Amino acid sequence: MSGINNFFLRKDLKMKNKKCFSFLKLNMKKKLINFIRFFLISSIIFVSLGMPIIIISPSETSLQIPEYIPLNSQLGLNTTLADQFNPTYAYNNIQTQLDFGYRIPGTNENLECANWINNQMQNYSESEIYNFTVDDVSCRNVISRVNPNMSQIAVFAAHYDSRAIAEKDLDTSLRDTPILGANDGGSGVAVLMEMARVLAASKINWNISFWFVFFDAEDQGNSGINGWDWCEGSKWMINEMKNQPDVYFRKTQSLESINSFILLDMVGGDNLKFIHEIHDSDELRQTVFEIGHSLGYESTFPLEDAEHNIEDDHVPFAQEGIPTLDLIIDFDDLTCGWPYHHTTADNIDNISQDSLKITGRTVLQFIYETYNPELDFFKKFSSKETFFSNPFVIGAGILIIGVSIAILIKKATTMNG
Ligand SMILES: [Zn+2]
Repeated sequence: MSGINNFFLRKDLKMKNKKCFSFLKLNMKKKLINFIRFFLISSIIFVSLGMPIIIISPSETSLQIPEYIPLNSQLGLNTTLADQFNPTYAYNNIQTQLDFGYRIPGTNENLECANWINNQMQNYSESEIYNFTVDDVSCRNVISRVNPNMSQIAVFAAHYDSRAIAEKDLDTSLRDTPILGANDGGSGVAVLMEMARVLAASKINWNISFWFVFFDAEDQGNSGINGWDWCEGSKWMINEMKNQPDVYFRKTQSLESINSFILLDMVGGDNLKFIHEIHDSDELRQTVFEIGHSLGYESTFPLEDAEHNIEDDHVPFAQEGIPTLDLIIDFDDLTCGWPYHHTTADNIDNISQDSLKITGRTVLQFIYETYNPELDFFKKFSSKETFFSNPFVIGAGILIIGVSIAILIKKATTMNG
């Protein structure tokens, strides 16, 4: 092939390229301007959309709070408060409840038990009875407040009613008879009362209110009493707190003041092992379970476990965004070590003082490590993380909304152009 032809060809190609290049340059400049415009608009939208969402997002509040460092790792394990817990006193508190008889809602035994709890708690706190009705049956919750005027509240709760039927009894002829509820009802109440005694006697200047709540009408669902649901007392209480906050809260308090809500239910059986309940705050559970570990109760507070879904008195509170923890056993598992749930064998013979002690000491140690006024930080627990409160989901949502609006604006501007 001829070299000259090649030369012209190449020159021709160069000319063409030059023209093409200048056209490309112009096109790129336009594209660059468009891109910068697109980038600026989407950034403005992204920031203006994102800011309010981040501000209202519940996870933001927890970002502001310094990292939780358990006191035992700062100063060495101080168990002074926990050591005051007397398991014999707690055990006697169960026996006294059983001495009243079956504490079925609407009965005189139930009323006497509520009055006894209220009178005992008045030694340690400001204690009141709150009356309500379920199907015209008189029921009552007892609420006792230690250090009642503080703007933050830690709630500890249990139910004191006992179930009207023993539908799981091995002896089928006993399935219509009531249960004594030494563990299912009695144990939680007993530990709370002993905790209140210890707290009231402590010389610590707490800057938080401690509420001890004793629910009626928890344990009558599924035909315990015909037509009744589980947790009637706690459902009634949360509705009242929302409708008539002045009846429950002091001036600076509201539902948002509740820093933690810990429920004790069946804490007195042998081989105590608490479950991971699905409505609970992961953070609150981890805190309490790690404290249980630090006290040497590893098998009671497993750090890793499958989640269970239990309808109990903490659920109405968890549903209001309050960080909850249900200290409860896997009562449906007959191999769990305490197979007497809803049977006539839920009596004092199947109560372990050791389990009462493990529970009482751990919750008191939690109080000491979390609410000690000498600490220069105040832990705020996040409530149960829902799909939409996950920061990554919020971030992805903002990104998708921002980008789609930017694309729409870009489309509109190119159509106009
Ligand atoms: Zn029960």
